[in-house]
Amino acid sequence: MDALLVTHLPDVRWLCGFTGSNAALAVTAKQAVLFTDGRYTAQAREETRGARVKIAEKSALRECCALLEKQAGQARFEQVGFDPEHTSVAALELMRSGVSAGKRRGFFVALKKPLISALRMVKDEGELALLTKAADLGCRLFEEMMPRIESGMSEVRFAAELEFLARGLGAEGMSFETIVASGARSALPHGRATAAKMPRKGFVTLDFGVILNGYCSDMTRTVHLGRANGEERAAYDAVLEAQEAAAAAVKAGVTCGAVDKAAREVLEKAGWGKYFTHSTGHGVGIEIHEQPRLAAGQEMRLEAGMVVTIEPGVYLPGKFGIRIEDMVAVTKSGSRNLTPVTKSWIEL
Ligand code: ZN
Ligand code: ZN
Repeated sequence: MDALLVTHLPDVRWLCGFTGSNAALAVTAKQAVLFTDGRYTAQAREETRGARVKIAEKSALRECCALLEKQAGQARFEQVGFDPEHTSVAALELMRSGVSAGKRRGFFVALKKPLISALRMVKDEGELALLTKAADLGCRLFEEMMPRIESGMSEVRFAAELEFLARGLGAEGMSFETIVASGARSALPHGRATAAKMPRKGFVTLDFGVILNGYCSDMTRTVHLGRANGEERAAYDAVLEAQEAAAAAVKAGVTCGAVDKAAREVLEKAGWGKYFTHSTGHGVGIEIHEQPRLAAGQEMRLEAGMVVTIEPGVYLPGKFGIRIEDMVAVTKSGSRNLTPVTKSWIEL
């Protein structure tokens, strides 16, 4: 590929540091040029590294494409790659409108394989330090908020207090909508906080993350209000064992599928396999969900420097659900847990 048009904002940020909400980055063998609009004149000049900054008069995307056409003429290339996963049909039309009619056909080529997200998978030392900090803040939130879980308190109220504290401790925002799923709602793997009141007896699943210095954290803990019955306790122990088995399987060179299998096998053996209805984990970085995916059959191999979640769970519809999630950094010999806060059984 002789030239690349980058418009997915997390990719732009990762490549050149610019964090504004409107950006198109043209990359060729010789240079990189970032286009944004007048709102970001000062910010773009301050943040951007390794690319020239141009303030578009009308459309950053269109003007970026016009420049690419000009460069194609000078440097004799025919095609510009773009990321089809993050380009809308409307954006593609706008891109084409930026080049002359004769050039439109075949000038923009959808990348067959993701290019920037593949590079972003392996974090450098600086990124690992930022992810560690974000994860630390997540752990601190759990420690401070866990004793405040109380039957009768609404899920949204709890989420609000957790998020207020997060901002107070420096978070720029939450990395996704906080999940507080209590009682029978804990059986919803992505049960966002609702007006439902936490029960006198039952599980409460907390899945949350902060954004700190642009990097996301992600962790889940499940606690129990009141006395648990034998089934609930057995399910928790099985999820914990599965989570630890998968974390222990993480190591550079191991396939993502093998990590998923390590969790799945424990749950299958204990009889909970059919209630584990999602994959074991995902990469985390500037975005909350990144490559790689830790799912059944995934042949991609882990590399030192990747940061992934390990989050098996079981969900019994109408009854209860449990998930335990850590964020781990892959190393040559294993992994480092970035969320080492307790996951032992907690009854409140
Ligand atoms: Zn999570
Ligand atoms: Zn996650």
